[in-house]
Amino acid sequence: MNDSEKSPRVVSLGDRCCGCGACAARCPKSSISMEPDDCGFLHPTVDASGCVGCGACDAVCPALNAPGEDGCEFALWAKAHDVGLLDRSSSGGVFGLLAGDALSRGGVVAGAAWTDGCRELRHVLVEDRPALGAVMRSKYVQSAVGRGVFEGVRTALREGRPALFAGTACQVAGMRSYLGKLADSDLFLGVDVICHGVPSPELWSRWVDYRGEAFGSDVCDVNMRSKTTGWLSYSAMYKHIAEKDNTGDTESQIFGKDWYMKAFLANASLRSSCLACPAKRSSGADITLGDFWGFQNTHPEVDNSKGVSAVLCNTEKGVRAFEAISGLTANGPATLDGVIAGNPSLVHSVTPYPKRDEFLNDVSAGLSIPDLMDKWDFRPTLWQRVRGKLGGIKRRLKRLVGRRA
Ligand SMILES: Cc1cc2nc3c(=O)[nH]c(=O)nc-3n(C[C@H](O)[C@H](O)[C@H](O)COP(=O)(O)OP(=O)(O)OC[C@H]3O[C@@H](n4cnc5c(N)ncnc54)[C@H](O)[C@@H]3O)c2cc1C
Ligand code: SF4
Ligand code: SF4
Ligand code: SF4
Repeated sequence: MNDSEKSPRVVSLGDRCCGCGACAARCPKSSISMEPDDCGFLHPTVDASGCVGCGACDAVCPALNAPGEDGCEFALWAKAHDVGLLDRSSSGGVFGLLAGDALSRGGVVAGAAWTDGCRELRHVLVEDRPALGAVMRSKYVQSAVGRGVFEGVRTALREGRPALFAGTACQVAGMRSYLGKLADSDLFLGVDVICHGVPSPELWSRWVDYRGEAFGSDVCDVNMRSKTTGWLSYSAMYKHIAEKDNTGDTESQIFGKDWYMKAFLANASLRSSCLACPAKRSSGADITLGDFWGFQNTHPEVDNSKGVSAVLCNTEKGVRAFEAISGLTANGPATLDGVIAGNPSLVHSVTPYPKRDEFLNDVSAGLSIPDLMDKWDFRPTLWQRVRGKLGGIKRRLKRLVGRRA
């Protein structure tokens, strides 16, 4: 690139960049690499010597080109009949059913899977059912979507095969703009999750090492949404390779007691872009999935112990995709407002932990997990406790009024 030409805008987005990876995948000169900052969040770096100033990276960036608002053809609650699938899923197992359908039609599925002994999370392509388990369940850390995944989805579509890409709203927005017109093909299904934010990959990898050291054996699997203590009061479950006999062993902690989960739920460890999310209800996803929090109050007659999904079919394609699997679920109608009531993060970016910057500075500075735990306990603030109590009273009153009506 000549000195007189401007550098691509993607390199100076700073906190607005959500790390979707679309710019790097789109660059025809492979001049963009995604590099981690001190918290492990990926940002694009351009090799100016290879850049020809074509602007393709800026053109696909969802943070620079706000996509239009998502529609909502219909909203519903759903849970898979298959109890085994529910156990392997975070909510009602709808993702597993949609993915199974795509695979049964010869397609590919892209989702987030643990690598490097669970220290890292990356999107991978799955082509058969036995491999599907790796991309199921919510993993609360930012996943890296590499060029190979973008290209794999595009290749499948060009070959006339179905391709389902699942991820956060910004990742779906990035994949859609990378694919261009191909994303409108009936073969592509974009599925996003209701996402309040993604935590620091650096904090996560340090946490996994700490868990391994504390247990005396490396972590080999993590389930952040174990339902052994229920769906509403889920646990974080760590499976270790026991050092001596090499048999798996597990330890689990109810989410409110797991320090990493407390940091996540306090909005202390989230990426900066999540505080002003560029993709909320504007990812272009055909289907949005979430936990149907609050469902137990409106449908006490439905067993929710293994999870219930909120399903938003945003496009006609999304409606058809859900219809193809609806026979495998118990489901019923819902409203967008009903989903938002239990999940405000569907439409609003979160309020950060008051001392988030200070906490992330400590992470960047390399403080060990024990030192971080000593300094940061993430107890709910007085206002959060009062708000929680008021919410409980409001819910009890609603139920009482409902019973009398
Ligand atoms: C970081 C994150 C935050 C979330 N926040 C909320 C929330 O505030 N409210 C809410 O209702 N729901 C939230 N969810 C979604 C919810 O936890 C379930 O993932 C969703 O309901 C789908 O559940 P399921 O049972 O249908 O399928 P599951 O099998 O649980 O499907 C999970 C899907 O998400 C993908 N995925 C998992 N981890 C990541 C990741 N880190 N990045 C990108 N994709 C990933 C998987 O590949 C899979 O496609 C969040 C999910 C994630 C990943
Ligand atoms: S302007 Fe073109 S060549 Fe330069 S980094 Fe962006 S996509 Fe690559
Ligand atoms: S938001 Fe995505 S496309 Fe835009 S600069 Fe960041 S990684 Fe690149
Ligand atoms: S909150 Fe928004 S920016 Fe953050 S990961 Fe989710 S979709 Fe991306």
